[in-house]
Amino acid sequence: MRKSIVAIVGRPNVGKSTIFNRLVGDRISIVEDTPGVTRDRIYAGAEWLNTQFNLIDTGGIELGDEPLLVQMRAQAQVAIDEADVIIFMVNGRDGITGADEEVAKILFKSNKPVVLAVNKVDNPQMREDIYEFYALGFGEPFPISGTHGLGLGDMLDDVVKHFPERELDEEDDETIRFSLIGRPNVGKSSLVNSLLGQERVIVSEIAGTTRDAIDTPFTKDERDYVIIDTAGMRKRGKVYEATERYSIMRALKAIERSDVVLTLIDAESGIQEQDKKIAGYAHEAGKAVIIVVNKWDTVDVEEKTMKEFEDKVRSNFRFLDYAPVVFLSAKTKKRIHTLLPKVLEASENHAKRVQTNILNEVIVDALAMNPSPSIKGQKLKIFYATQVAVKPPSFVVFVNEPELMHFTYERFLENRIREAFGFEGTPIKIFARKRT
Ligand code: GDP
Ligand code: GDP
Repeated sequence: MRKSIVAIVGRPNVGKSTIFNRLVGDRISIVEDTPGVTRDRIYAGAEWLNTQFNLIDTGGIELGDEPLLVQMRAQAQVAIDEADVIIFMVNGRDGITGADEEVAKILFKSNKPVVLAVNKVDNPQMREDIYEFYALGFGEPFPISGTHGLGLGDMLDDVVKHFPERELDEEDDETIRFSLIGRPNVGKSSLVNSLLGQERVIVSEIAGTTRDAIDTPFTKDERDYVIIDTAGMRKRGKVYEATERYSIMRALKAIERSDVVLTLIDAESGIQEQDKKIAGYAHEAGKAVIIVVNKWDTVDVEEKTMKEFEDKVRSNFRFLDYAPVVFLSAKTKKRIHTLLPKVLEASENHAKRVQTNILNEVIVDALAMNPSPSIKGQKLKIFYATQVAVKPPSFVVFVNEPELMHFTYERFLENRIREAFGFEGTPIKIFARKRT
């Protein structure tokens, strides 16, 4: 099921990033060896009252040296295009400024629900001063303070009220959704074309609708797939779509809707820093991942070339040690038949449930093989483990003291679980919880 998207807009310095970081805050979990994914984040998951949604900080989309007004218009447009609900943020200390009115005008014309947040209302006395903001025409203003974390609950109550009702179709069916990510020119469009066996016809935009990606369904060996293609949607002509952050946001949205993410590498130009960063997004999202080495036709293939290249991939993408590596050529279609079976397998593993009793046998065996560690004289005791979720498979291990579960021991348990159940292609998560 697609999560609702909330965008924060407003002129610079009203506190958009502060609120963004607060709402997203603890949810940003950085896996130790994932390359700098979270640094330039403008799109992230958040949660309120058990409702998960995605949040965009449009202030992070910058258009080089364009004048402020152009920047603000573009940011408001991103919000209108992408979001289900818009938080329009103003500064309670400044009153209504001309720039606020400009943003208001643009938002007003869209049909999107707008929640007006008056930030920097740091103490209750200041609440008296927010009534002038009714004049912006978006109804009741919500006083908040990003610095002190005040008023956010009331504001979010209002935000989630505007979320559209969702149909349950996307989650429940058996269709395997996958997307392709990678830096420009690695061959994403070419691979989509080859998989679909036809030259892509660019679907013209339907008036009034915007789409993140072109979804193309197809069937192979009685399994239904959907390719989520963001590459094909490039350059609709708006300035902001050319910005790197915006294209990252697009990729993140496509990843979000996928079961499996193919992260492409160009064999001709080799592995680059940016490849790792892009692959990191898929890993962080907890999706099944396949590393596709494209343009394999350009490589002089001797016996061990593939092995050598795979070793290089492995040492560069340590955080993706579970991802299979597939070598192919989108252009000549050589080895392209090896891809879908991997997609299928990864997606099945991503959704796999294991039996609790067998899981616990595996844990008991693991403990016998490598006794749990002690820290400062206290020994980790593991009582019981159970799988709590799929997509990705997630396990809770009940222990005497979660802090005793060292990273390396957790990795050891993960590897034992992987060996026992075969989770190729999918990340798995392990949470240590105190037994109460
Ligand atoms: P953005 O440009 O809209 O993303 O604004 P920032 O989040 O970067 O904030 C701009 C400045 O306002 C920073 O110095 C923040 O510390 C400050 N700020 C943000 N929220 C509050 C608040 O609730 N109260 C006060 N007093 N300052 C705030
Ligand atoms: P995208 O930007 O990732 O969508 O990449 P494109 O699909 O547009 O491909 C970029 C360039 O790489 C084009 O000139 C393609 O013809 C070329 N290309 C794509 N796949 C292959 C391949 O497997 N082998 C070779 N030699 N060239 C390829």
